[in-house]
Amino acid sequence: MQLIFEKSVPGRAGVMLPGADVPDALEIPADCLRAADAELCELSELDVVRHFTGLSRLNFGVDTGFYPLGSCTMKYNPKILERIARLEGFSDLHPFLPQLRHGGMLVQGALHIMHELERLLCEIFGMSAFTLHPMAGAHGELTGMMMVAAFHRDRGEKRTEVVIADEAHGTNPASAALAGYSVVAAPTDPDTGMLDADRLAGIVSPRTAAVMLTNPNTLGIFNSRIRDVVEIAHRNGALVYYDGANLNAVLGKFRPGDAGIDVMHVNLHKTFATPHGGGGPGAGPVGVRKDLEPFLPVSRVEKRHDNTYFLEYDFPKSIGYIAPFYGNFGVCLKAYAYILLLGAEGLVETSENAVLNANYLMSRLKNIFELPVKSACMHEFVLSARKQAENGVRALDIAKALIDEGFHPPTVYFPLIVKEALMIEPTETESKETLDAFASAMRRIADLAVTDPERLRQAPSTTPVSRPDEVKAVKDMNFRA
Ligand SMILES: *Cc1c(COP(=O)(O)O)cnc(C)c1O
Repeated sequence: MQLIFEKSVPGRAGVMLPGADVPDALEIPADCLRAADAELCELSELDVVRHFTGLSRLNFGVDTGFYPLGSCTMKYNPKILERIARLEGFSDLHPFLPQLRHGGMLVQGALHIMHELERLLCEIFGMSAFTLHPMAGAHGELTGMMMVAAFHRDRGEKRTEVVIADEAHGTNPASAALAGYSVVAAPTDPDTGMLDADRLAGIVSPRTAAVMLTNPNTLGIFNSRIRDVVEIAHRNGALVYYDGANLNAVLGKFRPGDAGIDVMHVNLHKTFATPHGGGGPGAGPVGVRKDLEPFLPVSRVEKRHDNTYFLEYDFPKSIGYIAPFYGNFGVCLKAYAYILLLGAEGLVETSENAVLNANYLMSRLKNIFELPVKSACMHEFVLSARKQAENGVRALDIAKALIDEGFHPPTVYFPLIVKEALMIEPTETESKETLDAFASAMRRIADLAVTDPERLRQAPSTTPVSRPDEVKAVKDMNFRA
């Protein structure tokens, strides 16, 4: 791949300006003039168009191919939602506009949507109130943990630990630690793939501020003993935090609030219309049960009797601001439109198809790669390339070989409790043909792991750069090499 500067040809131009036919109006002092020409590339317009169009075609996205990146829910999101988020009435709003001005209702529509989305999230997940402010799942976790701390402080209790399942996403312990807690890991039962409720009972204590639970968890397993987990926590005066990154599996089937969950976040940029993994923006609204409402961040959208809305800041027990202004409004807007577009039945169907697709693909792959947890999965499943690793082919090699097959690799080496993990989430928007094509590619790769392992270790061969040294790429960034 040539850089655009390497394609430059001296004297070639993309524009042709006529020479000036009037005298220079301004005498520019000599010491302000550059001595040498600027080092710009010299190309025709067509050269430039081809260069950047070519680069854009090296991108991989849901619009170009299958993207089974586990735990990220890389589904197709209808384009109409992007269109809605770009409507001028929303995209041109300024956060300093007055909430209600005589003769002008500039932000009432936006406030209405924020209020309605909070209400819908409460209904879908069985919580008492939501804040839309957190700008990512991890940010939601931190917000939740800060509220847990405020809750215990308010009751005059000093608790120092947060108990977290050992399969959890790394952001869980990071958020608990940032909120001032030490982290205690709770083991997953290797056979069932579920948090071991019996062993949890011996870990949770009066020192525990909260238990953090992901359900379905990162192995794609729904914890059928979630009520026991909640009971163990509550018996010890601890709260239960629910990591809602995997809610794409349970819409309309299970509500965390009904299981007694105290605090939760939803990754709007996984389940509701904004793709994950693009580096943002995202949104991680946090929901709480009734007695945690006073601790929610400010501001909060309130509705007056005359059906107008306003932002209220007067909550003395609030944890305060956790984001500038009101969160990522555009992402919330897309989520709101998506929920209305699909309706209650559509959301249920979304989860049913996500689970069906995952189980179909799992059944096609379980005889090719090792499947550590054998039970039916929810929206995703985790394979292990342990057998292949014995032959010198690691999960990373399989992921890279998939690129040559035209697929985005799955998540690898996560969750940490599975050796050589390949975490696959097909999502509800993929067809049977696509899933079959992926399964065939995985079979070809598994065969190569036996007959020609070296070829897999060299993959990918179809990309301009094969295998960058990922650590060096971060520590010693050089975009020109
Ligand atoms: C994605 C994810 C998170 C974090 O969400 P971000 O928006 O990326 O910060 C937390 N937990 C799980 C299980 C996830 O999959």
